[in-house]
Amino acid sequence: DGTVPAPLLTLSGVNAWYGAAHILHAVSLEVGQGEVVALMGRNGAGKSTTLKAIMGLGPRRDGRIRFMGHALEKCQPYEVARLGLGYVPEDRRIFTELTVKENLITGRQANRTWPDGRPGLNWTVQAIDELFPNLAGMKERPAGAISGGEQQMLTVARTLMGNPYMLLLDEPSEGVAPVIIEQMVAMILTLKSRGASVLLSEQNIHFARLVADRAYVLEKGAIRYSGSMSEL
Ligand code: ATP
Ligand code: MG
Repeated sequence: DGTVPAPLLTLSGVNAWYGAAHILHAVSLEVGQGEVVALMGRNGAGKSTTLKAIMGLGPRRDGRIRFMGHALEKCQPYEVARLGLGYVPEDRRIFTELTVKENLITGRQANRTWPDGRPGLNWTVQAIDELFPNLAGMKERPAGAISGGEQQMLTVARTLMGNPYMLLLDEPSEGVAPVIIEQMVAMILTLKSRGASVLLSEQNIHFARLVADRAYVLEKGAIRYSGSMSEL
């Protein structure tokens, strides 16, 4: 009917500081429903800080952050996760003594319905097998005994157990083997096909091109480019 869906996530003039260091400068961006958006930039450009500022983790921040009608700048991190915003940080946090399956179950589990009434993603441990074939045969292994790339997958899979409407992924391709990258790409495209959104912090342009609809580029904490992947 020609109506444009409201963006799922909108940042307007977001600044962030670590102590006295002013890291993000009036960052504005938006991510629509079912969109995959890459947040690119060099080391230290502020990609991770942007994701942390959205989640309310780490830096002091100001500006407006809206997610599905909620003012995130007034929320605690656990409340943000509960609203259906999943976050996978750069550092892999898994329970190495627990099995892969037990790690999955420690994920925040939730059933969700889209605002228009359609069912949400509602992943189960079984459904995760289809998403990450590499993990499927490793369910009973201690998570400390799988490779770094598989651990990276596990952190994503665990976050998906919370059935987020949107995923914030911090450099999922960093330091992982091509077979894992392939499964990460397939996972992101599956999420997109089911109507979920992804904001992806990424330095690897090849990876970003495989999944992202468009990109923002950060330089010294400010957005310097916003547009298509092909003109990047
Ligand atoms: P990378 O590609 O290396 O992950 P990035 O784009 O994610 O880089 P950030 O981690 O957001 O960059 O860092 C942005 C700036 O903030 C850098 O100058 C960094 O040194 C600084 N910074 C990051 N974390 C902290 C912190 N906890 N305390 C102080 N300064 C920090
Ligand atoms: Mg980073």
